[in-house]
Amino acid sequence: ENSPLEGQHTGAADTEPRLDAERPVVAVVGRPNVGKSMLVNRIIGRRGAVVEDVAGVTRDRVAYDATWRGREFTLVDTGGWESEATGLAATVARQAEYAAASADVIVFVVDVTVGATDADSAVLRVLRDTNRPVVLAVNKVDGAPQDADAAELWSLGVGEPYPVSALHGRGSGDLLDAVVDALGQRAPRVDPAAQGDEGPRRIALLGRPNVGKSSLLNRLAGEDRVVVDPMAGTTRDAVDEEVQLGGRTWTFIDTAGIRRKFRNLQGADYYATMRSTAALNRAEVAVVLLDVSEPLAEGDIRVVEQVVESGRALVLACNKWDLLAGDEERRRYLEKEFDRQLGRVWWAPRVNISAHTGRHVDRIVTAAQQSLDGWDQRISTGRLNGWLKELVAAQPPPGRGGRVPKILFATQAGTRPPHFVLFTTGFLEDSYRRFLERRLREEFGFAGSPIRLSMRIRE
Ligand code: GDP
Repeated sequence: ENSPLEGQHTGAADTEPRLDAERPVVAVVGRPNVGKSMLVNRIIGRRGAVVEDVAGVTRDRVAYDATWRGREFTLVDTGGWESEATGLAATVARQAEYAAASADVIVFVVDVTVGATDADSAVLRVLRDTNRPVVLAVNKVDGAPQDADAAELWSLGVGEPYPVSALHGRGSGDLLDAVVDALGQRAPRVDPAAQGDEGPRRIALLGRPNVGKSSLLNRLAGEDRVVVDPMAGTTRDAVDEEVQLGGRTWTFIDTAGIRRKFRNLQGADYYATMRSTAALNRAEVAVVLLDVSEPLAEGDIRVVEQVVESGRALVLACNKWDLLAGDEERRRYLEKEFDRQLGRVWWAPRVNISAHTGRHVDRIVTAAQQSLDGWDQRISTGRLNGWLKELVAAQPPPGRGGRVPKILFATQAGTRPPHFVLFTTGFLEDSYRRFLERRLREEFGFAGSPIRLSMRIRE
């Protein structure tokens, strides 16, 4: 019997996917309805072979392979992130955070028929702080009359506005030239996966103001800590500390940022967000603290989302457990809230702690180590495909328009976080990819680590 998985085994070698890290990332950012997705489709044309799908907390990220004048890059469409529930401000803030953390070049899209709004200006302020090159695309410039309106957007202060019409294809060549130029100037990204195994593992304590980060740091580190010199190329005051815990040394990232208090200042949340972004850049695992004496807040979800997006290992620490004082009803309520709002990160280890009394704080490093094990894990191609073959036979992907896509072959293209590439003959629906991820985790573990699933579709 000639199964599709075995049949394609050898054929896949010459199309072995490249690692994410080798490809620069271009993120397309902008308010809802400015035409981001149409612009992305215009740029990738019919050759959008790869779909990278990162299951986020509240929405997923989709990325495509793109090439312009011989330059290859990954194009990320943030268009699917918009949600009625969170509102416009939160949506654009998230796009900007993502772009700041992960993109090499940002294409910021404005709608010429609307002009620049306050929301646009707010995002641009965040983007300017990131030192990433921003290329300004002014969309819906369908004819000469709008060219003058486009030119007015020099006023946004991010350089030349490139008039485009995603609808007609007008101007996209000039825009892409600018993107490729900007890629040439990009600053190197700090990639923890490339930093080797030596030395202590790097851990970041994250969470919105007042969840107990400093208290926990004091509890864990006590007197026994060594202040490490700021790393070259990082913010001047990003001080790290080395701490002995559970028989090994850990580097806690940006402890100065944890101790510095901005809580009564306006913009404390913004500061916290920027700190998380910077700390995540250098961390391998993040411990996100949540305050169980308060309802889960938008800010909590956001930090978790940042971690998942950054591809770092994750531990959830429910702090101030002492305040529950055995209140069973409240505990059940919390469980429900977790499932409702953080159900998508069901795979992250959770520890219930009290920085105040010291309850179970030692479990944090155990959990962090577990998450790092998942983050580092590599599954052999043979094992992976053996498992997949059985799974697909028992539960084939749903068909679309009478065609059932075949999964030909899978391989783990990378670790930190684990990245799997599926070679298929057609698009796998969202729900099926979610199903595969769940089964993959049930079979192989990966507790505490985000997983990236890419599809490479062969026409
Ligand atoms: P940070 O802003 O995240 O660094 O939070 P802090 O560590 O400064 O803590 C904020 C407040 O919560 C302080 O008043 C702490 O004493 C209190 N706190 C922190 N952890 C706990 C805990 O486990 N239990 C209780 N009851 N209070 C805590």
